[in-house]
Amino acid sequence: HERSFIAIKPDGVQRQLVGEVISRFEKKGYKLVAMKMIWPTKEMAANHYADLSKKPFFSGLVDYFSSGPIVAMVWEGPEVILTGRKMLGATNPNSSEPGSLRGDYCIRVGRNLIHGSDGGESAQHEIGMWFTEEECS
Ligand code: ATP
Ligand code: MG
Repeated sequence: HERSFIAIKPDGVQRQLVGEVISRFEKKGYKLVAMKMIWPTKEMAANHYADLSKKPFFSGLVDYFSSGPIVAMVWEGPEVILTGRKMLGATNPNSSEPGSLRGDYCIRVGRNLIHGSDGGESAQHEIGMWFTEEECS
C-alpha cells in the first residue's frame, strides 16, 4: 500500500481547516494511518525542507513552518502520493485549481495551508522523520 506524509501547516490549524482537510481525504477513500499535532522547532522545519535550503525563501519558510502547531498525518491508498498532491493543488495558490484545498482556501504561496510528499522516496523519508514505525503500523 502506498503512503504519503501530509501535514496541515500552522496557518491551516489556526484557520480551523483541520476538519476540512481530514474530511476530504477520508471521503476520497484514503485510510488515516497515523496523526499527531506537533509544534515544529526551527531545526525540525529546516530538516523537513532541507532540499530547499538554497532557495531565497528558505528562512521565511522555516519561520512559517515553525510558527505554530501542525497536524502531521500519514495517509494510505492507491496513488495517494500523486492524487494527494492534486487534492492539495499547485504550490502557488494563484495557480491552484478551484476545487483543490489550496485553490479553495488560500491566496499566498508563503501561507499555502498544507504539505504533501512529492514522491515515493520523500514520502518514506518524511514519514520516518515525523513518526516512529510503531506509530504507523
Ligand atoms: P510542500 O512541500 O509544502 O507540499 P510543494 O511541494 O508544493 O509544497 P515546494 O517547492 O516543495 O512546493 O516548496 C515548499 C514550500 O515552500 C511551499 O509549499 C511554500 O510554502 C514555500 N514556497 C515555495 N515557493 C515559494 C516562494 N516562491 N516564496 C515563498 N514561499 C515559497
Ligand atoms: Mg514540496
